Amino acid sequence: MRRVAISACLAGKSCRYDGKDNYAQALLEMLEGDELILFCPEDSAFGSPRPTMDLIETHRGVEAVCNESGVLRSEAIRAYARNFFDQHGTIDLFIGKDRSPSCGVCSARVYDREKNLLNSAAAGLMAQEAIDRNITAVDAEKFEGQV
Ligand code: SF4
Repeated sequence: MRRVAISACLAGKSCRYDGKDNYAQALLEMLEGDELILFCPEDSAFGSPRPTMDLIETHRGVEAVCNESGVLRSEAIRAYARNFFDQHGTIDLFIGKDRSPSCGVCSARVYDREKNLLNSAAAGLMAQEAIDRNITAVDAEKFEGQV
């Protein structure tokens, strides 16, 4: 049995910025028999619903910035990610929601301060922590397409 960390919204949790979910029935059917460990750094840190945030390239590197307030949101996401992986031990596979600034694996968008798109194949902040820990990580849509 694999231990699979998966974005909670894909499993039906209403934790998106708009209080909805991204329930992915076909994906979940592919994971039957695996142990699913749900995560949602944004719901944990900011609740749901919440203002959206984008990844912005800054002089300090890529940071999550709240679109409504302009406030930096990165540290709460990164702290959640570190704590999540520290607490859960061995994770065989990380499946992240495509295009999320937290969970996207190779699909998060990074902008400059003027909101020009710089990169549409970046890792979100939580996905980056998984990658840094050498955990196999994949976007949900890619996983559905390749398995
Ligand atoms: S994509 Fe990630 S941060 Fe966004 S709602 Fe889903 S689990 Fe939460």
